[in-house]
Amino acid sequence: MRQWTTENGLLVHRLVGPGCNVYLVSGPSGCIMVDSSYGFTGKKLLQRVELACAEKQLKALVLTHTHFDHAGNAALIKEHFKLPIVVHEEEAGYLKKGISPLPRGTQFYNKAVMNMVRRVHIPFQHFRAVRGDILINDRYDFSEYGLNVYALPTPGHTKGSLSVVVDNTIALVGDTLVGYVLGHNYPAFADGPDQFVASWAALLDTGCTTFLPTHGGAIKREALQVLLDKHL
Ligand SMILES: [Zn+2]
Repeated sequence: MRQWTTENGLLVHRLVGPGCNVYLVSGPSGCIMVDSSYGFTGKKLLQRVELACAEKQLKALVLTHTHFDHAGNAALIKEHFKLPIVVHEEEAGYLKKGISPLPRGTQFYNKAVMNMVRRVHIPFQHFRAVRGDILINDRYDFSEYGLNVYALPTPGHTKGSLSVVVDNTIALVGDTLVGYVLGHNYPAFADGPDQFVASWAALLDTGCTTFLPTHGGAIKREALQVLLDKHL
């Protein structure tokens, strides 16, 4: 498992990846998990959580949004660890239904593909339905869990997208950025691409130096600044 450490010693583990990353933040008093990947990774994910948390308690699951590749094991994780799910209130209805609408393409070619795909029923879009427990629409602090961590709304990919800021050093950004090769960081899919600029600026305002997306590798602060400048 790949891992990163913040200045104050919080650990960020990549439980599964790099295609569809799930992260776990671990501090002295417990852990929180960010996203839950596709349903078929469930068993592996449970084993990796046990390894990364060791004796510590997994205290919450945060969903950056509820697409099937992020919420696929939310029900399993909640059931297994008896923990609350933190999700944006805009996404809670999708989580309860077990299906979240696919996003639109952001460039000509994937716009055309997604326009077709969105019209047909795709079975893999479904995941096990589950109720969100802590519904947020603003910054939400995890200090009560003993962690210098907060969730921050970063709309663009979906209306209810969140990022998770760890120790003002590392941000787990879901699909607000992608970490593909050759410095390609602009998401191919988004419902509100015009919201990206404000969300990227908010991410830079956190002071973080590393941004970890769900798809692909780490993005440095300098690369995010370049992306923002290009789209301003
Ligand atoms: Zn997504």
